[in-house]
Amino acid sequence: MLQDRIDFRRRALTHHDPNSPVDLFVIGGGINGCGIARDAAGRGLSVTLAEMNDLASATSSSSTKLFHGGLRYLEYFEFRLVREALIERETLLRAMPHISWPMRFVLPYHKDMRFESETPTSKLLSLVMPWMKGRRPAWLIRLGLFMYDHLGGRKILPATKTLSLPNTPEGAPLQDRFETAYEYSDCWVEDSRLVVLNARDAEARGASILTRTKVLSATRDGDLWRVETQDTENGKTRTHSARMLVNAGGPWVGDIIRNKVSIPSSDGVRLVRGSHIVTRKLYDHDKCYFFQGTDGRIIFAIPYEGDFTLIGTTDADHPDPSQKPVCTEEEQRYLIDFANQYFAQDLSRDDIVWTYSGVRPLYDDGASSATAATRDYTLKVDAAGGAPVLNVFGGKITTYRRLAESALEQIDSHLGIGKGPWTAGVPLPGGDFPVDGVSHLIADLQARYGFLTPFWARRLVRAYGTEAEIILDGATEARDLGRDFGATLTEAEVIWLMDREYARTAEDVVWRRNKLGLRLSETEIAGLQGWMVERRQSGTVAA
Ligand SMILES: Cc1cc2nc3c(=O)[nH]c(=O)nc-3n(C[C@H](O)[C@H](O)[C@H](O)COP(=O)(O)OP(=O)(O)OC[C@H]3O[C@@H](n4cnc5c(N)ncnc54)[C@H](O)[C@@H]3O)c2cc1C
Repeated sequence: MLQDRIDFRRRALTHHDPNSPVDLFVIGGGINGCGIARDAAGRGLSVTLAEMNDLASATSSSSTKLFHGGLRYLEYFEFRLVREALIERETLLRAMPHISWPMRFVLPYHKDMRFESETPTSKLLSLVMPWMKGRRPAWLIRLGLFMYDHLGGRKILPATKTLSLPNTPEGAPLQDRFETAYEYSDCWVEDSRLVVLNARDAEARGASILTRTKVLSATRDGDLWRVETQDTENGKTRTHSARMLVNAGGPWVGDIIRNKVSIPSSDGVRLVRGSHIVTRKLYDHDKCYFFQGTDGRIIFAIPYEGDFTLIGTTDADHPDPSQKPVCTEEEQRYLIDFANQYFAQDLSRDDIVWTYSGVRPLYDDGASSATAATRDYTLKVDAAGGAPVLNVFGGKITTYRRLAESALEQIDSHLGIGKGPWTAGVPLPGGDFPVDGVSHLIADLQARYGFLTPFWARRLVRAYGTEAEIILDGATEARDLGRDFGATLTEAEVIWLMDREYARTAEDVVWRRNKLGLRLSETEIAGLQGWMVERRQSGTVAA
């Protein structure tokens, strides 16, 4: 029954004649590519998106997972970026209350905190108050937080407050020398699910989403692009034609400009690696910490997946995108040492249970350090040789929807679309419920599916929102959901992920569609992989 429903929905979607040119061909299935594809498809454009691996397999699954204004960017005077991101947090929260939620951040204060010496604020302060010797004074933090509260039309999220740390849950895990902290709001987002939900919504609006499809080359043929792709699983090549190309290749944006599209461009990308470590849960409350270092950098410690703590990130130049980013021993040591300046209980590398690493594809603005390079996005169109190509540089998960709107403005000026912005306030799949409705949804699901444990019900609602119901499909006991792969992952859910969410391998499932990789054993993951291969070979997977 579930399979029939899924097959029907997919059949209903593909209506573009595969032999005629599409309006837009998007290279890259990260958040920017999928966000642009969704927006464009919703405005009636025919769209094909090609992703060479899994959706969100590169930077868009490796972020700190915050919808945030970026408090530290205020020190770089990036007011436009911060304001746009602050406004955007609540717009996004409303559209996806299942995969995004508000979080409080506790910023402990100590007089030894230093600026990075290159920020415009630190330069200004060392000029007018040289006796501060690079220190970040408390009044400046309060000023920054005041701006953070007021720049971006905050309506849902609570305002900043000052905390006295002794004898509070927030102070308990910290060293005694921290007596005061500031507490402010930002939001969490499940980054890789955000990408998949954008891709699904794009597909539901008529786009064609091709994963495991690498763009080998794109050449201009008058006012069309001829794009050659290769299926990375069976090696088959195919030629597509399109009126406009979008290069949303993330860390590969420069490689695509130089080697795939071969256009002259003076725009550069600065690749900056950021790594995170995950430990067992380090404290009992649900707030995050914002730690400032004596080197001017900041890191976060964030409650993660119920039983863990996420700590990151680093900033290191990573010039070669083909080199898979990993969290080096040096980065692990750096993050541990940084956290040990704050937590009462010393951490060691033995506490690390998982690490991940991603590469920020930043627009090269000539900044001296990786930390200082702008996080804002830049869109550049090249139409000099005929059909236009839009190259996407930089950006943040937080600004993906606004970036897509800006991209569509540029696309409109070349293709003439007519239809204006529409994505603000339109829920992503499963997100069609009130912003404070998660607890209600979980309780309701548990009441109707009595066999769900609290962890299981919460996990399903957080991942699928109102669509959790379709996966459970009237089951009266756990056995109705088919094989149990461990940690509450069942056959019914894996079928959904393979048929509706483009998952091809166990890695796609346990590290990107969810984070059950933290709980499943290697043997269980191998069992899942074997089952998925068998299912694909038996031909039951929707194309
Ligand atoms: C450590 C770290 C922490 C971050 N934290 C935050 C945060 O908390 N909040 C926030 O807002 N932002 C954050 N960001 C920024 C954010 O993650 C990125 O800006 C965003 O994910 C970039 O998305 P993208 O789509 O441009 O790139 P990607 O996600 O890398 O997508 C590009 C895709 O293009 C594909 N591709 C490349 N070449 C080809 C080809 N030839 N054919 C087909 N496909 C191709 C790749 O496989 C890849 O999947 C963070 C970034 C990092 C690295």
